[in-house]
Amino acid sequence: MPRIEMYMGYGCPYCASAKHLLASKGVSWEEINIHDLPDRRDEMIRRSGRMTIPQIFIDGVHVGGSDDLQALDTAGRLDPMLGLGKKGPHREHHKVVILGSGAAGLTAAIYAARADLAPLVIEGGQPGGQLTITTDVENYPGFPDGVQGPEMMDLFRKQAARFGTTFLAGEITRVDFSRRPLTVILGEGELITADAVIVASGASAKLLGIESEKRLMGHGVSACATCDGFFFRGQEVFIVGGGDTAMEEALFLTKFATKVTVVHRRDTLRASRIMQERAFASEKIVFLWDSAVEEILGTPDGGVTGVRIRNVKTGEVTEHATQGVFIAIGHQPNTTIFKGVLDMDEVGYLRVRPGTTHTNVEGVFACGDAMDARYRQAVTAAGSGCMSAIDAERWLAEHHA
Ligand code: NDP
Repeated sequence: MPRIEMYMGYGCPYCASAKHLLASKGVSWEEINIHDLPDRRDEMIRRSGRMTIPQIFIDGVHVGGSDDLQALDTAGRLDPMLGLGKKGPHREHHKVVILGSGAAGLTAAIYAARADLAPLVIEGGQPGGQLTITTDVENYPGFPDGVQGPEMMDLFRKQAARFGTTFLAGEITRVDFSRRPLTVILGEGELITADAVIVASGASAKLLGIESEKRLMGHGVSACATCDGFFFRGQEVFIVGGGDTAMEEALFLTKFATKVTVVHRRDTLRASRIMQERAFASEKIVFLWDSAVEEILGTPDGGVTGVRIRNVKTGEVTEHATQGVFIAIGHQPNTTIFKGVLDMDEVGYLRVRPGTTHTNVEGVFACGDAMDARYRQAVTAAGSGCMSAIDAERWLAEHHA
């Protein structure tokens, strides 16, 4: 068994994802909590050159973070590193396979399991979905005092498991919906077949797409304030975006940073009124309106040193010193693998028959952020997850009785 070291910390959903994937492989690992052990934090930065958690080492070799671990698994390279044998091409058949484990997928699982359909949930790259990288959820009915996103998804999962849902860690790389049974293909080429498939693959954080953002990701650039805000204690940071996510993350960052500058491309926020008011009320948050980040300055070795910002109205370019840049500019549906198979709009949101969750392929249903460009709330995702399970149950009763 190889020695696996994971530098991790509290409130880090990507650490939870990485642990989940390793646990699903049946291996054990050593956890180094850098929030409790500041010396080990410096050791992590020295060994990995990165300022984001988790950082994972297998037999002393730096693997990277949770996304890197997931990518290795998808490419079939993780199991050999862990000393595990290759799996056979065909695993099992299920009546209902649900792709995704966020609010939509887990609600679909609760309903499908209670309908005796024994669903399999394939958890995807971010088990628990986007709510696992948020903090307080204050608008989900039934929680008058609010609830933490990760805790809420844990409750959804337990409820789905209670009625007989099974879970599989991993990501789908291909699907074959051209014949029956429907086939989904997991990272290492494993096939899973199903009578009905519910797509609940959600959406992922968008990035600016500039070269310096990619080069400096993990070296001062981050897409997750709850994971990495801790590294910026006593410093001044920038956050890009004008929606609820950006306001929530800006407020979270005020716990650590001395000043948080929000860079927004317009002069009004998209965020809800309550979040705007909270952000405006914070003495630590300032706004740069009508502004776009042109370049993030710094090197992977030295970290971020500043940002170059252009005023989109006047064209004026200014440079600002900072060690941290957080990106919070919305989301992209995770539907690339369905291109050419399932109907989708130009952005990638799956199209469903109006008022239902039926896609253009018989027996394939879509719910949650993968098909909802308009509402994108936890409660609407859960609602459409419920609809998809009911649609699947009725479709199965008609076609597979
Ligand atoms: P949104 O799409 O609502 O906002 C994205 C923001 O990023 C917008 O202000 C947008 O600018 C800006 N943006 C987009 N692309 C770029 C780019 N390339 N460069 C610069 N800026 C860019 O996404 P959110 O993730 O904030 O929210 C998604 C959904 O989740 C919403 O429905 C929101 O209400 C909900 N949510 C609710 C929370 C809560 O209630 N506590 C917390 C978090 C999210 P512009 O405004 O000009 O389009």
